[in-house]
Amino acid sequence: MDYPEITKPNVDQMPVRPNLDHQSRLIGSFDWTQIERELGIQNREELNLAHLAFDRHAKSHRRDKVALYWEGKNGEMESYTFSELSMLTNKFANVLAGLGLVKGDRVFTFMGRIPEVYIALFGSLKFGAIVGPLFADFGPDPVRDRLQDSGAKVLVTTPALRDHIASILPELTDLKHLITVERDGKYVGQAGDLNYQELMSGASVDFPNIRTGADDYSIMHYTSGTTGKPKGAVHVHYAAIQHYVTGKWVLDFHEDDVYWCTADPGWVTGTSYGMLAPWTNGVSQVVYEGGFRASAWYSIINKYKVSVWYTAPTAIRMLMKAGEKVVGQHDLSSLRHICSVGEPLNPEAVVWGLKAFHQAIHDNWWQTETGAILIANYPFMKVCPGSMGRPIPGITATILDANYNEMPPGKEGYLAIRPGWPSMFRTYWNNPDLYKSRFQNGWYITGDNARRDIDGYFWFVGRADDVINTAGHLVGPFEVESVLIAHPAVAEAGVIGKPDPIAMEVVKAFVALNDGYQPTSELRRELTRFARQKLRAAVAPREIEFVASLPKTRSGKIMRRLLKAQELGQPLGDTSTLEDY
Ligand code: ATP
Ligand code: MG
Repeated sequence: MDYPEITKPNVDQMPVRPNLDHQSRLIGSFDWTQIERELGIQNREELNLAHLAFDRHAKSHRRDKVALYWEGKNGEMESYTFSELSMLTNKFANVLAGLGLVKGDRVFTFMGRIPEVYIALFGSLKFGAIVGPLFADFGPDPVRDRLQDSGAKVLVTTPALRDHIASILPELTDLKHLITVERDGKYVGQAGDLNYQELMSGASVDFPNIRTGADDYSIMHYTSGTTGKPKGAVHVHYAAIQHYVTGKWVLDFHEDDVYWCTADPGWVTGTSYGMLAPWTNGVSQVVYEGGFRASAWYSIINKYKVSVWYTAPTAIRMLMKAGEKVVGQHDLSSLRHICSVGEPLNPEAVVWGLKAFHQAIHDNWWQTETGAILIANYPFMKVCPGSMGRPIPGITATILDANYNEMPPGKEGYLAIRPGWPSMFRTYWNNPDLYKSRFQNGWYITGDNARRDIDGYFWFVGRADDVINTAGHLVGPFEVESVLIAHPAVAEAGVIGKPDPIAMEVVKAFVALNDGYQPTSELRRELTRFARQKLRAAVAPREIEFVASLPKTRSGKIMRRLLKAQELGQPLGDTSTLEDY
């Protein structure tokens, strides 16, 4: 299905000129050391994420600038400046020193989006610990799996969440300290727990030395579990170079921006772009503790005059479902630049964005393993709805065949990246063999299939595991899902290959409807006709099943492997990140 291109803007007429404003800057010689110099890094042996995010700004004109505007789920409001966060993270680093931790120990957080998450994570990074943020909606089992796998020594949590996981605590033999954050000051704590407020009030605000270097481990992030058991991808402090520069080029941060990233720090987007990119750029950001509700989200944009917004396709589909009328009830004129990541952004969503927000939503692609954005639509580029954009400077991306040889434009194959970018993961925790297997013939194999066009734009086809082989045609689920959701009745679609004795697999679609539509056989026939008009005959779904909702990860990704397992009556595999549905 063809969607018209959104013409390249004239950068001279844009209200704010993009930081990366010309195509030629994408080509030619680029060297990451240019960015090191821009960040004032003189010695790679002294490089620390927390220092780059807070301390550097605390010594500059940004000292009293707000780094974090926090809005609690009950409307509470707090704000923290760069110098306050610099001091608070010093204190937390001293708390860890006082507990006898050593560099490289793992410190995990398990809390909702409250300010203490950010203080604990950056304080731990400053100290030289390896941090792991966990999503607060996890049940006891996923928490136990991750704390056992990482051998975490410290867990920072809240009293309620501590009680929620009380049953697994005796199994965590490596865990030495449990710190609880008691925001309302009422809870008296469990025997043996440490109290965050008490520890912090007794800690010094000075933590003078940078204790980490470029290659020291910083963050371990478990992947989303969309295709299987989550893997612990380990990153290093040097990744900051790329968080900074992608914030500057792709999110297009400017000094006066107010930025909002809707992802939770429990997912890599909420860490790389909900903490590191804005703060290494010295930008003010909003953190909203509450969950999704279209009108609440638009109110946040209006209240804080959010200018740069980074969200995900699943959220955009939910906003589409809520409708344009809700958009019209809010003044969203502060929004200057919108980006999306996490799943393929359906072209229909880009077109909707033009109507609802009067601008293109800019898709970009990366993974937990890549640590930062690698392929993007920049503000100055023409946007081709459905494309993830072009590689950022310094990144070589390509398409490989089954023997890991490069293929020309137009061909579909494995999306692969030349190793060596700053935010590349350095291992899978406790699984070096799996890590090694991801590198073939001098390339990092991403696990996604894609194609590149002659203009160098990359188009997502599907996860390598999800690609359907039907009568000799390889079909990416994304293409079929995007057509289905272009029908007004369809809110979401998940497409799988169903085994078939003749065609090997046939395309089967699971469809969730928008409010006001009934799952009738007439609608099923109508959707089949609609898909056949827009897709090649072999690609259009042979079967359509109506469902109330699709199985998704807690970060909002459609879990096609579960649809397939359910269809085949097979075991579901790892469901630790499955959202209730
Ligand atoms: P797991 O590796 O555990 O199966 P996951 O791959 O979903 O989970 P993440 O690292 O959070 O874990 O997600 C990265 C993946 O998300 C990418 O490999 C890709 O499949 C998908 N993705 C992210 N952004 C985009 C995008 N813009 N377009 C298409 N797919 C995207
Ligand atoms: Mg993955």
